[in-house]
Amino acid sequence: MMPPKHEHRIRPLRTVPAGHLLVHEIYRSIQGESTFAGLPCTFVRTTACHLRCVWCDTPHAFGQGEPMSLDTILQRVRTLGGPLVEITGGEPLLQPLVCPLMARLADEGYTVLLETSGALDISPVDRRVHIIMDLKCPGSGEVAANRWENISLLKDGHDEVKFVILDRADFDWAVDVVRSYRLHERVAVLFSPAFGQLDPAELAGWILDSGLPVRLQLQLHKYIWSPDARGV
Ligand code: SF4
Repeated sequence: MMPPKHEHRIRPLRTVPAGHLLVHEIYRSIQGESTFAGLPCTFVRTTACHLRCVWCDTPHAFGQGEPMSLDTILQRVRTLGGPLVEITGGEPLLQPLVCPLMARLADEGYTVLLETSGALDISPVDRRVHIIMDLKCPGSGEVAANRWENISLLKDGHDEVKFVILDRADFDWAVDVVRSYRLHERVAVLFSPAFGQLDPAELAGWILDSGLPVRLQLQLHKYIWSPDARGV
């Protein structure tokens, strides 16, 4: 449920024609995150997000976009080639049409990833889709947005949970969540340092000390290209 004071954040979606998605960009790059990191991947980035994480690296996707039909998006993805596609944002699940888009991509044989904040219901997502759910730590400023009911909907051995860690307090919070829900026994768990704000070596040390089998995740694309580069 979105607080009424945040309704203006999804205003760009209100004028999208029926049967269309508001898309910020479609491009091909190296997947920088998740257990698929390093693989060539086509990204479909949708417009708009109702959250405002303090370290958000895609604020350009909050408002700018082009309405596109599913057929047009599918054609663009086919043209770019490759078997791996990620739907990301913004927050893709703000636009219900992403669900039939993902189903059609899976029907065509693509391996489909969905990056979502986890603040919206993931139950309508096709079960073939690999959900990468970003649980919001306190340092993001959006911890209250976490939709905890989503955890029971994650598919064991298939979906992934990501934590962006800003500081030691975030790390301790994330460890508590992982242990409480025994996430590490169900799905891949990714701990990612907030880029430029937490030294990856420090996070690596904390992970080793914790004894938890979680995966240190660096955002590969930010090391390959400029941290501010778009469309990579
Ligand atoms: S959920 Fe994602 S797109 Fe939305 S503000 Fe947070 S990091 Fe940015």
